[in-house]
Amino acid sequence: MQKKSQEKFQCPECESKNIRFRFKVNNKIKNNAYANVTEEIQCASCFMDIPANVFIYNTDYEIEDNKKIWQSYYKPVHLKVAAQCSKCNLYYWQIEKQIFDMNITASDIFYQTYDTKGSGGKMVCRLCDPEAFKNNKQ
Ligand SMILES: [Zn+2]
Ligand SMILES: [Zn+2]
Repeated sequence: MQKKSQEKFQCPECESKNIRFRFKVNNKIKNNAYANVTEEIQCASCFMDIPANVFIYNTDYEIEDNKKIWQSYYKPVHLKVAAQCSKCNLYYWQIEKQIFDMNITASDIFYQTYDTKGSGGKMVCRLCDPEAFKNNKQ
């Protein structure tokens, strides 16, 4: 048995060993690959949120396994449900990376336009409409 303190991190997307956040998740969608994911890690390099179980490894052998599982199992689902700007079509991790590179610390990177049909309005990102975020300065 491996102890928690021996956990090592490597992003299965970009191979960075640096993590930005580690957080608990409660997935509402129960019939996809993420049904059993309870914890995710946001990579400090590519900014993707990735299930902790494929970000953590104990042996080098696991790194390759994690990459395969991420690419074939989790990532296709993630790409379908990930927040994406309706104007520039960038995903949240691409936007967060750009915002980070601009030295802006912000947790809110999208606003949602109102949609009367209730199907969730369109998302517009901070890069496309910086004015909309001026009132939310931290
Ligand atoms: Zn990464
Ligand atoms: Zn945008």
